[in-house]
Amino acid sequence: MTTSRSDTRTSARSGAPGARIVVISGPSGVGKSTVRDRLMETGRFVRSISCTTRAPRGQERDGVEYHFLTDAEFERRRDAGEFLEWARVHSSHYYGTPAAPVLEALEGGRHVLLDIDVQGAAQLRLKGFPLLTVFLLPPSLEVLRARLEGRRDTSPEQIERRLRTAQYELSQADRYDLQVVNDDLEGVVAAIMSRLDGTPSGA
Ligand code: 5GP
Repeated sequence: MTTSRSDTRTSARSGAPGARIVVISGPSGVGKSTVRDRLMETGRFVRSISCTTRAPRGQERDGVEYHFLTDAEFERRRDAGEFLEWARVHSSHYYGTPAAPVLEALEGGRHVLLDIDVQGAAQLRLKGFPLLTVFLLPPSLEVLRARLEGRRDTSPEQIERRLRTAQYELSQADRYDLQVVNDDLEGVVAAIMSRLDGTPSGA
């Protein structure tokens, strides 16, 4: 990962009382999307759909898993201040959270779920949004490697790059409100919901 930036045009604190941005971060392969999908089933969240400049993988569809953009279009939107946060992840592609849907959901009193990397989470902390930040930990680095190797769409070079990024991401885990080992899906979801319902933002 190389670049990240905070955009002051989207830094206003906003939202109805109680509505929060719930950030899920963790190394590639830790199981963020499974946790995210299970949290969505509770009906308590609006899911943010990120923009990315990477190519769609497998069955991914534009506007569902991601909005897939060219570099030029991403940079245009970034420069127009349309992202709440953005970063280059794994030293390659751009990823960013469109601001408008998140701000609209918060204004409507809904929690918003973001699956973003540690650089993006750091930007949101600086901007003063009402957050609950959750870092998913793998049971071990061996388990993480095995999960990445099990993905047929990930090359050996990508696996090594992702494991190198994982070392850095894991070093950021203690900046999160909640750190959970992802070894039991229902346990992870219960821990997040209990923290969300039990503590005010910033506690
Ligand atoms: P993938 O390409 O495997 O879907 O995602 C790679 C990484 O990018 C994951 O760690 C994911 O959390 C992160 N990511 C996805 N969307 C965003 C975003 O909008 N902003 C940031 N900062 N990271 C993102």
